[in-house]
Amino acid sequence: MAEIYDVVVVGLGGVGSAAAFALAERGYRVLGLDQFSPPHSRGSSHGETRIIRKSYFEHPDYVPLLCRAYDLWHELEARSEKRLYHPTGLLEIGPHDGIVIPGVLKSAAQFDLPIERLTMGEAKKNYPGLHGDDSWSVVLEKDAGYLNVEACVKAHLDSAAMLGATLEVNQKVIGWEPNGAGVRVQTQEGDFFADKLILAAGPWAGELLSQLKIPLQVLHKHLYWFEVENESYRETDGFPCFFYETPTGFFYGFPQRDALGLKIARHSGGGPVSSEIDGSHERNSEDELAVGAFVAENLPDVSQRMTRWSGCYYTMTPDEHFIVDTLPNDPQVTIVAGLSGHGFKFTSVLGELAAELSTERPISVDLDFLRLSRFSK
Ligand SMILES: Cc1cc2nc3c(=O)[nH]c(=O)nc-3n(C[C@H](O)[C@H](O)[C@H](O)COP(=O)(O)OP(=O)(O)OC[C@H]3O[C@@H](n4cnc5c(N)ncnc54)[C@H](O)[C@@H]3O)c2cc1C
Repeated sequence: MAEIYDVVVVGLGGVGSAAAFALAERGYRVLGLDQFSPPHSRGSSHGETRIIRKSYFEHPDYVPLLCRAYDLWHELEARSEKRLYHPTGLLEIGPHDGIVIPGVLKSAAQFDLPIERLTMGEAKKNYPGLHGDDSWSVVLEKDAGYLNVEACVKAHLDSAAMLGATLEVNQKVIGWEPNGAGVRVQTQEGDFFADKLILAAGPWAGELLSQLKIPLQVLHKHLYWFEVENESYRETDGFPCFFYETPTGFFYGFPQRDALGLKIARHSGGGPVSSEIDGSHERNSEDELAVGAFVAENLPDVSQRMTRWSGCYYTMTPDEHFIVDTLPNDPQVTIVAGLSGHGFKFTSVLGELAAELSTERPISVDLDFLRLSRFSK
């Protein structure tokens, strides 16, 4: 007779790897399934680095989640004996009455988070490789930096496996359905049964939840690495991550780590995915022109010579906030979806929350702003 698991986790990327780990750590019999072999470069969790920050301009309600996420990343580093977090600091730059600077200041004030305010002149003096409009404001968040994205996924998966989780890769889930109070999960190789199901399918969430008609839009996004003319941007010399709000959009980047140079991307924009989601992307001239112009204006010591390009997916909700909930008619199913291009830093805590929701343990943070019901209001 087939084994009945406590929980099946579908998708072992950023969120699913963390959920499998959180469940295994709590002693549950967990089966994790992925259509590919994570960490891989066909979903949303690849490309070397992801920014992590606490003074969250998007909404102050994310801050308690972030405090827990930081703790969990530190614990994972200790457990895996791998360096996952680089505390480089982050410069946020933009108009004082824009979206980023007021949002950062609001979250920092509400949660008494340490930040440093600078004028653009002071930022240019301290970081000669950075330029910007003299009227812009600057906030330095020292307790920010970046995560090694693939290493985080691998550390969660390795830790989950060591704690007894069964992880099956290259197994595509083709359907799921309630089975009494539990679930039946169908793959191309057979069926699996569990009491609970966690769907953490990233850009494929819409396919696995098509009956719910959740308004998710998947976008093609692009990452670029540019050669650097001198030593202005080295992480080893204390250069931080940066995030700009400009009249042409939001742009961000990371300090130089190696000969590939500076990694830069545009957070805004992105073309809707119109074909099958299979991890293939094409270069986009509009995005390249926008990023090239941003570099020319604000990062004068970066050349326009690209050393690497990579494509990735954002899975957007209409309000750009995540979905973390159980399904209204099938409470044995938990979903984490629609991370809207800013979710990786949270995956440690989202995995823990998914584990708590699916095992009916008490939830330690307020999740109301991430519930599904907001779309039916
Ligand atoms: C270019 C780019 C830059 C970003 N920068 C940042 C940043 O700086 N900071 C930040 O916090 N966030 C950032 N993000 C967002 C963040 O990376 C994502 O929100 C996060 O990685 C999404 O994780 P996920 O688990 O939802 O998806 P994924 O990691 O893609 O995982 C989904 C998994 O589900 C599997 N799967 C799907 N369907 C099935 C199926 N039917 N059967 C079996 N398996 C299935 C997939 O194979 C995949 O492994 C960025 C995203 C991109 C694309």
